[in-house]
Amino acid sequence: MTKADILDKWIEIHGLLTAEQRSSFLTKPELDVLAWLPDAAVLYGLSRSPKLAEAARLAQRDGWWFAGQACEPDNIEWCARCKPTGYPTTVYMTQGWSSAFHRSATCNMLTAGQRFVARRGGSPGAVEPVHIQVALGSGRFPCQSCFR
Ligand SMILES: [Zn+2]
Ligand SMILES: [Zn+2]
Repeated sequence: MTKADILDKWIEIHGLLTAEQRSSFLTKPELDVLAWLPDAAVLYGLSRSPKLAEAARLAQRDGWWFAGQACEPDNIEWCARCKPTGYPTTVYMTQGWSSAFHRSATCNMLTAGQRFVARRGGSPGAVEPVHIQVALGSGRFPCQSCFR
């Protein structure tokens, strides 16, 4: 993808930029990194973060998958289990009802929720580590506190 293509995609995903913002965008050093990565990795990075540094970091870290390289644990190309999500491989969620998954078992929102249940006389569900694909597959959303 050329730098101009990356700019177009960014605008498509994150919204319009002024002419000034567009020209400063095109001078960002991260574009040199992104321009060499597979298109799908670039799109993945851009869709995860409007910040170019973060988009480039994610695209570089996870680009191998989009380039069709076999994953290490399963040795499968385009492995569904190892498809990068931009989230950690292991996340935490509460057993029972909860709509969120968390970066850590000690997330403030998570522990506050547990205390809330306990205060109302309930017994809070156990917190368990799960594979990110399990969390996403169960329809849970990233916690707004730890995945800001
Ligand atoms: Zn795999
Ligand atoms: Zn959290």
